[in-house]
Amino acid sequence: MAIERTLSILKPDATRRNLTGKINALFEEAGLRIVAQKRIQLTEATAGQFYAVHKERPFYGSLVASMISAPVVVQVLEGENAVLAHRGVMGATDPKKAEPHTVRAQFAESIEANSVHGSDSLENAATEIAFFFAGTEILP
Ligand code: UDP
Repeated sequence: MAIERTLSILKPDATRRNLTGKINALFEEAGLRIVAQKRIQLTEATAGQFYAVHKERPFYGSLVASMISAPVVVQVLEGENAVLAHRGVMGATDPKKAEPHTVRAQFAESIEANSVHGSDSLENAATEIAFFFAGTEILP
């Protein structure tokens, strides 16, 4: 099995409700190691750029507003098949469709305020990690 890294974001709905520890515990229990982590405030420009792939979607403006409504915690998670493992712990985008044990089923407020972001491919993970972290900030 391949050791991978993926980019994770604890979204404003999670930081606002003080859920970072509970969510991190689920990641660690799934074998993912937090090798970088910082609490930051996204701006309209940075959140818009991060979600640029969704620019034409009807929810884009609302998603960007939601992502800048409070600080987020950005993190790099490392582990075996980290991209898929993390997506598994996160659960489906829509919490109503997420498996019961997942972060989104347990904590998400809505399809938009769904508590966590996770890279959806190894290629996107590398791009998204570089968006937020310098190599020297990642300490395996
Ligand atoms: N999103 C939304 N409405 C939708 C679909 C997505 O508000 O109908 C938001 C939601 O916060 C989601 C993010 O846009 O996490 C990115 O969407 P994507 O389809 O990439 O889902 P994810 O990879 O986060 O599960």
